[in-house]
Amino acid sequence: MLCAIISDIHSNLEALNTALDSLSDVDAIYCVGDVVGYGPNPNECCEVVREKSAATVMGNHDAAVIGKMALDWFNSVAREAAEWTREQLAAENRIFLEGLPYTAQAEGLTMVHGSLPMPERFLYINSPWEARPTFDSMGDSALCFIGHTHIAEYFVRKGRRERPPWRSVGADQISMTEGGLIELMPGFQYIINPGSIGQPRDGNPQASYAVYDSDARTVEIRRLEYPIQAVQEKMRAANLPEMLIARLGYGG
Ligand code: ZN
Repeated sequence: MLCAIISDIHSNLEALNTALDSLSDVDAIYCVGDVVGYGPNPNECCEVVREKSAATVMGNHDAAVIGKMALDWFNSVAREAAEWTREQLAAENRIFLEGLPYTAQAEGLTMVHGSLPMPERFLYINSPWEARPTFDSMGDSALCFIGHTHIAEYFVRKGRRERPPWRSVGADQISMTEGGLIELMPGFQYIINPGSIGQPRDGNPQASYAVYDSDARTVEIRRLEYPIQAVQEKMRAANLPEMLIARLGYGG
């Protein structure tokens, strides 16, 4: 079975459609949050995700736009974009976002936007230390997909049965900024961030997502060019903050 895992679409329809066009061969698509926020097409992105994604979890921008999380957590440009998104959002898409769970399980995968314990707090995983609570909450599950940082990378450590009980950190952090193949080893646990579809922040402005092959036991991170300028023009027309427009061009 082939599953695509997409994350952090952020209302970027051009990037989302480019990714989906390349995914005609997959059996299922999952989304690990932040369908909306920042970009110019929140309704269209919700509609595509509603139709195509077999499971979607709540991101912090999804939560903020529907009023489930206070906007005080956001910097000024994120807040401005969230308020704009709130005004644009159609009733059926608001209902869709309101119904999203904080975590999901499918095909042996665990999915969460931030960190697995207390998923409604949306804690960031940027280091092996920050990955530890999620590893410890995975139980016997070998694979957890996260989003939130917009950085394509993964964390790996020996599974519960493979290591002495007193050794609970010992994780490696591996960058996947240029894409590539992860070969999943038996007895190891993985936390994989597929990177961001619609607002990459790892220095590579290409859209980023993952394809999990459950038979071959591999996860491929793919990076794809998409028409960035078309999105930037829409953002300018909508008067979204210039900083958000510029960052799409350099992936930062
Ligand atoms: Zn995000």
